[in-house]
Amino acid sequence: MSKVLIVTGGGRGIGAAAARLAGSRGYAVAVNYHSNSEAANSVVQGIEAGGGKAIAVQADVTTEAGVSSLFETVDRELGTLDALFANAGTLTEYRPIQEIPLADLEQTWSGNISGPFLCAREAAKRMSTTYGGKGGAIVINSSAAARIGGAHGMLAYAASKGATDTFTLGLSIELGGQGIRVNAVRPGLIETTFHDLTGDLERLKKLVGGVPMGRTGTADEVAEAVLWLLSDEASYVSGTHVDVTGAR
Ligand code: NAP
Repeated sequence: MSKVLIVTGGGRGIGAAAARLAGSRGYAVAVNYHSNSEAANSVVQGIEAGGGKAIAVQADVTTEAGVSSLFETVDRELGTLDALFANAGTLTEYRPIQEIPLADLEQTWSGNISGPFLCAREAAKRMSTTYGGKGGAIVINSSAAARIGGAHGMLAYAASKGATDTFTLGLSIELGGQGIRVNAVRPGLIETTFHDLTGDLERLKKLVGGVPMGRTGTADEVAEAVLWLLSDEASYVSGTHVDVTGAR
């Protein structure tokens, strides 16, 4: 029997790389996306072409309705949940503290805190041995910004990822006796279009000089860490944050 994995934001970037890798390693993968159905369907088709099983599921994971619909679709179409990669996140335009509107803060908290929180809640209901489940693993996508404070203009993003790290730690403690491991990855500068949301299309080029390994990372390199954390090879690893940053 395939293990069932939900990847939020699995249509593009790091989520897509993790979904593809999971599909190639025998997981039945729910590829969640927000609006880009073409990208999510292409990930699903790639997994199926390799002999794997996957479905694309549209849902805004910052809403109760979206999260319920995502998890209920997976219950129905793939069966008992084993693993969650709470990957989807958001970023607002670069702004100094003096110019950050409340709307940016609310969008950031909603995308980076409420979304993973709601998804982890639904996963815990299904996987907890206390609730009749068979255990499982959760990985949350944090960021090196949580540790380094983010680049200038990304204060809200960095603060939200700091909250993600605390949530990961607290959740691992709360679920430790319920058969569920909880960890985070903290990617550094990874080549995806996510950075364009800041409004600075040269962002990666400008910052790569600060990476000791001298280069940006790839979504595939983050996916490898995620899949290890989800796997039985990491059976005694919980409550930790794995940096994938080229030593940054
Ligand atoms: P990306 O390439 O822009 O992909 C983002 C994915 O998330 C897309 O599939 C998007 O769906 C989905 N998404 C966004 N909001 C959503 C919502 N409300 N509901 C459902 N899906 C939603 O971004 P990425 O670089 O892979 O980033 C993914 C995660 O990694 C984020 O949490 C980010 O903070 C974290 N991270 C990234 C970097 C980096 O350098 N790239 C570094 C550190 C941490 P659509 O395709 O439908 O739009």
